[in-house]
Amino acid sequence: MERRDFLKKAGAAALCTAGAATLKTPAAWAKGEKFVWNMVTTWPPSMTVLQTGAQRFADRIKEMSEGRLQIQVYAGGELVPPMEVFEAVSGGTVQLGSGASYYWAGKVPAAQWFTSVPFGLNAQGMNAWLGSGGLKLWEEIYEPFNLVPRPFGNTGMQMGGWFRKEINSVDDFKGLKMRIPGLGGKVVAKAGGTVVLKPAAEIFTSLERGVIDATEWVGPLHDLRMGFYKAAPYYYYPGWHEPGSTLELLINKQAYLSLPKDLQMLVDCAAAECNIWTLNEFEAGNGAALKELVEKHKVQVRRFPDSLLRTLKKLSDETLEEEAAKEETSQRVHTAFKKFQKEIGGWGAISEKAYYELIA
Ligand code: CA
Repeated sequence: MERRDFLKKAGAAALCTAGAATLKTPAAWAKGEKFVWNMVTTWPPSMTVLQTGAQRFADRIKEMSEGRLQIQVYAGGELVPPMEVFEAVSGGTVQLGSGASYYWAGKVPAAQWFTSVPFGLNAQGMNAWLGSGGLKLWEEIYEPFNLVPRPFGNTGMQMGGWFRKEINSVDDFKGLKMRIPGLGGKVVAKAGGTVVLKPAAEIFTSLERGVIDATEWVGPLHDLRMGFYKAAPYYYYPGWHEPGSTLELLINKQAYLSLPKDLQMLVDCAAAECNIWTLNEFEAGNGAALKELVEKHKVQVRRFPDSLLRTLKKLSDETLEEEAAKEETSQRVHTAFKKFQKEIGGWGAISEKAYYELIA
């Protein structure tokens, strides 16, 4: 065999082998490249669905990647304080974080729209919006912070909150000290309330000691476990301020790009699975928890008066326009959100709304 032919054949054989190896295992896998990441959250240790969901996400990634990507999960305060998760992931102290984007309103005002908008979209609507342009906008807004965002759960419709006194009109919000983050908090402030921001771990004590007069959190499943019924007798609905809050996964951009393509996709798919799993958990648990709150703990479940809700809607509309006008990115997100909500509203009116009226 001539040397040239030999080289040609040897080359073809090598190519063939490489091809087969690529089919069986990606290159990085074949090299045994492993990634060990840290993840920090804003949630207290062992908080059901949220913290346990983050751990579940890490466990599943480890299993699906056969140990190539291992994630050590830390609750709020274990590695970094809950309200410093954004900075920790942005700065590369850790690779992953989880919380809610409206916690970073002071740094990124436009981020608030990606958690929830008062009188905005429900869980289905948020997922629909994020899947059809919303996530792209979110990525653009987090890009300067070296972050890749992913929807990481949805709480579904929330409750209006726990109040130490009855709420009969908008005047009852005047001087009311309430823990309520995000755009909903801006509306309460506009109604005359004093907005207090506290991480999950500090809310119960603040309510019990009267540091705050009211708090919203999520819905019956979580609120029961938080013990708010021991500190405030009135549990109001509906959660006009958070009709379907999206939770977030923060990924450090360099860390994300350092992964081989298949592991990037695995992180994305596991996050998408966590997004729907979280909603399922809340939806499945809220009914029984509400029953326990009412029957066992004698909680007084009250509906906000219609006139108050109408006032809050008006104040919300004004607040959203004002907040959006403060900076270009917020305006861009607000415009996109409003357009999408209007577009899907016609369908919602003859599908979900008509159906719920029928079975009410
Ligand atoms: Ca909430």
